[in-house]
Amino acid sequence: MGIKQAQRLTQLPPYLFAELDRQRNEVAARGVDIIDLGVGDPDLPTPATVLAAAHAALDDPANHRYPSYQGMRAFREAAAAFMQRRFNVAVNPETQVCALIGSKEGIAHAPLALVDPGDAVLYPSPGYPVYRVSTIFAGGEPVPMPLRADNDFLPDFDAVPSDVAARATAMFLNYPNNPTGATADPAFFRRAIDFAQKHDLVILHDMAYSEIAFDGYRPPSILETPGAMECAVEFHSLSKTASMAGWRIGFVAGNAQLVAAIGKVKTNIDSGVFGAVQRAGIAALNLDPATQEEIIATYRRRRDLVVDGLNAAGIAVNKPQATFYIWFAVPGGDSAKFASDLLQRTGVLVTPGVGFGPEGEGFARIALCRDEQRLTEAMARLVQHK
Ligand SMILES: *Cc1c(COP(=O)(O)O)cnc(C)c1O
Repeated sequence: MGIKQAQRLTQLPPYLFAELDRQRNEVAARGVDIIDLGVGDPDLPTPATVLAAAHAALDDPANHRYPSYQGMRAFREAAAAFMQRRFNVAVNPETQVCALIGSKEGIAHAPLALVDPGDAVLYPSPGYPVYRVSTIFAGGEPVPMPLRADNDFLPDFDAVPSDVAARATAMFLNYPNNPTGATADPAFFRRAIDFAQKHDLVILHDMAYSEIAFDGYRPPSILETPGAMECAVEFHSLSKTASMAGWRIGFVAGNAQLVAAIGKVKTNIDSGVFGAVQRAGIAALNLDPATQEEIIATYRRRRDLVVDGLNAAGIAVNKPQATFYIWFAVPGGDSAKFASDLLQRTGVLVTPGVGFGPEGEGFARIALCRDEQRLTEAMARLVQHK
């Protein structure tokens, strides 16, 4: 007897990397040393001050009980202080901040709080796959907004059909952007908020890479935009900023009704973030600037090394101002074929752009989550086989 799966599962897009996974195993079985530049999983250890806070918190029985749903007061205060210090954005820690089990958890639950069947949800493509999937889980209709090189990988709001805009209840945005490495300026956020107000929709801004930025660039928060607090929330993560991907901690901040709606879903599904992890999160939100700068400097050296290597291999690419991704146009334009050929010939694994949505075709992504020695080796292989 077959097991019946819910339609929301059968509606999911097919797993696009299955064939590449198969080839990876086959190449590895030949004894080739694979250099995996595919996954965006920080390889740097969590900073010592964060570890120390977690160690101490483990021994405190207060943290052994169920945590509060929206996060402990001290964590929400630390998040609010971070928003104030970093962006000059004032949020009330009582009503406008909620702790998340990683920002992915909040992003995935937000449509359950906001979207009804028949509602359209706009999302950037290429993009983080969760926007589309969480919309499908909520019964909504995901509508891609293409991010194109000729528009600096920003969506063109004028290109959204008016009937879609009328049906849309939410729009996901993500800057600094995964996978393109693009950034958004305050003028773009102004247009986004104007669009949201005109069409009466909410904006869910994913800012997972807020602190991973180079050469003095400081990414702005959408919440700095006048009017944003009436219609937007922002998802923050400590996974990339403080190399804490395994800890599962982030927060959502912004419009109080939106934060409350997301919190209401959470109270019915999960039981909050482990208290010791929240204590670690407080230390991460107060990371000393020198430690933060070390993390950024590491990614900057890797970025320069990879961009120079790609250029030397005949692949023209500019240095991104933020994120730890290099997004580049692939010779030939077929991203799956490029990734497969590269893997077969060099053992270097990159992510084909088409895996981030059809609009990502023609590009590939390198994640800077390997050390300089491995990246140098990968680039040498690329140059050798160009
Ligand atoms: C890594 C990432 C996240 C998820 O981060 P967590 O806080 O670890 O859940 C969210 N959005 C984007 C675009 C990411 O790249």
